[in-house]
Amino acid sequence: MDTLNNFIMEKFNISENVLKFALKCENEIKDKFDEIDKITEYNQLKVLNAMQKNRLSEAHFAATTGYGYNDLGRDTLENIYADIFHTESALVRPQIISGTHALTVALAGNLRPGDEILSPVGVPYDTLQGVIGIRPERGSLSEYGITYRQVNLLPDGNFDYEGIKKALNDKTKLVTIQRSKGYEWRESFGIEKTAELIKFIKSVKPDAICMVDNCYCEFVDYFEPTDVGADMAVGSLIKNPGGGLAPIGGYIVGKEEYVENAACRLTSPGLGKEVGATLGINSLLIQGLFNAPQVVGGSLKGSVFLSRMFENLGFNVIPKSNEKRADIVQAIQLNSAENVIAFCQGIQKGAPVDSYVTPEPWDMPGYDCKVIMAAGAFVQGSSIELSADAPIKPPYNVFMQGGLSWHHSKIGIIIGLQTMVDKGLVKL
Ligand SMILES: *Cc1c(COP(=O)(O)O)cnc(C)c1O
Repeated sequence: MDTLNNFIMEKFNISENVLKFALKCENEIKDKFDEIDKITEYNQLKVLNAMQKNRLSEAHFAATTGYGYNDLGRDTLENIYADIFHTESALVRPQIISGTHALTVALAGNLRPGDEILSPVGVPYDTLQGVIGIRPERGSLSEYGITYRQVNLLPDGNFDYEGIKKALNDKTKLVTIQRSKGYEWRESFGIEKTAELIKFIKSVKPDAICMVDNCYCEFVDYFEPTDVGADMAVGSLIKNPGGGLAPIGGYIVGKEEYVENAACRLTSPGLGKEVGATLGINSLLIQGLFNAPQVVGGSLKGSVFLSRMFENLGFNVIPKSNEKRADIVQAIQLNSAENVIAFCQGIQKGAPVDSYVTPEPWDMPGYDCKVIMAAGAFVQGSSIELSADAPIKPPYNVFMQGGLSWHHSKIGIIIGLQTMVDKGLVKL
């Protein structure tokens, strides 16, 4: 063993058999890493090109306060996002406080009483259920007379085109397409499948707004949903496109009209995109975006590594290590609460922040069972940083994502496995 591996074993208490197993897994996925590197390079150049085209300059890093009129940095960042996503317009703001909020603003800004939302991909992400009113919440869209329809995926995981055709009706104003799996045990939708679905919806109802929940999917492939027909794409800056540097924020990109509708909901009717001070964090949002392709590439490598490792141990995983990825999330079915808790505690032990804290399952608002979350992040709740979470219920699926660098993801995952081995839960 060499300097690096001795350091890993000594400083992180990794046993030789665990490290040897991990290195064998790493070796088996080298060709996947080459594919990821190509996509990273492409997206890095796409971001660079957009920054150059918009003549990004030092002046754009200056802070604005108060109303934030003429915030050149903010406007330039939005133009850069619009170029990256090939859209007419973009709303990228620290006043959007999370992914859920970005989706809320996009929905509420574009829907009026009597309109209907359709989800053709099954039940949306937990927090969105409250926003729409699938689960009753104060101020939900259903309280404003907006109705909701859902078409589940077929048992084989494909879209139920017949069902979708039947569900689209005169009232359907907006179709919400969530690409990433959330806490569901299903594949996440790659750009080809997303394109196919949008094309079908447009063929049945050309004027339906196709909005894509793009959380966790940015920069995972060469193309984004807005390259293949989506009218709007929405996401969080403390996930992929913030590159780990954005301390807050969300984005909405798409057709001018729809983005403007969202802006008027975020600020006020009549004010739209003209106001919203950035208080000096523009440089973080912009530099984070610049770093994002690299960070996403690193976390993708971590996901492939985790997938391979647990495949080799005989667990069910989604996606498999050799499958094309649509997002940075790796799901593994760990079959017992003890396994889930040990793995998450191991991930926490590998964090740069709060590594000495032991996460425990707790009753999180909005969930029907206890949830455990491992996150030792620089930005609270940031899941572009190495993180793992799991609802504590059969079949005990754990969802891992992120890592600001491949090297950090790798050690975090190895510590996760070591923790399971130490507790006698896994034998190598
Ligand atoms: C994370 C996520 C959201 C919500 O984002 P928050 O920032 O946690 O509010 C919505 N949809 C999907 C698919 C997500 O992964």
